[in-house]
Amino acid sequence: MRRATNVRCCVVCRRAGPKTSFWRVVRDHGSGLVQLDEGMGRSAYLCPTADCLKLARKKRRLGRSLRCAMDDGIYDLLEARLEPGQSAPD
Ligand SMILES: [Zn+2]
Repeated sequence: MRRATNVRCCVVCRRAGPKTSFWRVVRDHGSGLVQLDEGMGRSAYLCPTADCLKLARKKRRLGRSLRCAMDDGIYDLLEARLEPGQSAPD
């Protein structure tokens, strides 16, 4: 069996897995804006979990990985995607 080429890893915990199992954050090549799921440009992948999201926010991992200043709004958008009850009280 050929090794899958679409394996990605989480910018926080480095867990590897199929591309589709992560949230994709993209700094779009054209607009320069950071957006979710769509766009052509530099991408960062993150586990869809409260833990990784929290750490990513705290350590500013996405911005670092995308090499740009990132709006906190992206983290809010991702937070809204968490399954209800999954987000840890802080
Ligand atoms: Zn992770």
